[in-house]
Parts: sequence; C-alpha cells; structure tokens
Amino acid sequence: MVVGKPIFTVEQIQHKVRELADRISRDYEGKDLLVIGILRGAFMFMTDLVRAIRVPLTVDFVVAASYVQTETSGEVKVYCDARESVTGRDVLLVEDIADTGVTLNYLRERILLKRPRSLKICTFLNKQERRTVDVPLDYVGFEIPNQYVVGYGLDYDNKFRNLPYIAAFRKSV
Ligand code: 5GP
Repeated sequence: MVVGKPIFTVEQIQHKVRELADRISRDYEGKDLLVIGILRGAFMFMTDLVRAIRVPLTVDFVVAASYVQTETSGEVKVYCDARESVTGRDVLLVEDIADTGVTLNYLRERILLKRPRSLKICTFLNKQERRTVDVPLDYVGFEIPNQYVVGYGLDYDNKFRNLPYIAAFRKSV
C-alpha cells in the first residue's frame, strides 16, 4: 500500500475551509442552519468547517456508506440517522468527497422527503468525471481527477483517516 505525497497540504486545506465557511456564513445570515455531516469520512472537514462558520448553527450527523475498500458498492446503507428534525430548517449536508454521486443523491432525496425549508450540499472534494448520478453541489472545496485519495478523514479500509493532509493512494507499488 502506498500513500503518495500530499495533493493538498494542511495549509491549502485550512485556506479552503476558511473560504467555504466565509461563503456559508454570508449565505446563512439570519437562517436556521442545521449542518449534517456524513460519517465517517466527513468528520475532520465537518469539525474544521463548523468552527469557521460565523452564524449560529446546529450540528448533527448521519452514518452512511457505499464503499468497500476502494470500490463503490452502488448501494447506500444508513447505519445511523440524524436525530434533529429537518422539517422547516435550512439544512446543509456536508460530505468529504463526491464520487459517483450515489451517496449524496440518496441522502438528499431522503432529507427532501421530510420537507426542509432549504437543502444545500457542501463537499470538500469532487471527482466530477466519476459522476453517474446528477446531484447539485452548492459548495465545493477542490475538484480532483479520477484517483483514490486518503487523509483528512478519508480512508482506505478505515485506515489513514488521521493524516492531516490529502494524498493519492495505491494498493500496490
Ligand atoms: P459516491 O457515492 O459519490 O460514489 O461516493 C461517496 C463516498 O465514497 C465518499 O463519502 C467516500 O467515503 C467514498 N469515496 C469516494 N471516492 C473516494 C476516494 O478517492 N477516497 C476515499 N477514501 N473514499 C472515497
């Protein structure tokens, strides 16, 4: 297993998080913001992001997965749902990476059924060329090519999530 050099350094990540949080703070002024992070991958991005947002907000999480090692199963499983009611609230769904779009689309439709006042999506990374499902992304940190990445919450087989930077990953040399 090979973890490459950082694609995004700690400094680049911090700068991008501040940029996203500034936009979100402006857009949600005076609203009832409920930020829902998708675990486990988004845990690091989520904590950095909410700390940098300057409007009042509520935090919740949903535990969902569609990936097994480096392949998507195409089927989303929700292991633990959010506890906050989303009805009538301004919901921001926070994801680590949008790949095929299956996970975000599934969770988006699930939330929309409960009639939030608004629903937007923030993803730290986006692999546009891998998209199979059209899902609207409102805030995107970085666009990346079709490569598997780890670090900053992103895993391979539940490892490497603790790397403070984002790096490319290969199963063998
Ligand atoms: P999607 O449903 O959009 O295909 O996949 C989204 C999920 O797949 C992400 O939340 C993440 O868990 C996983 N994923 C997709 N691409 C990568 C990647 O390059 N690295 C890692 N570690 N996970 C990925």
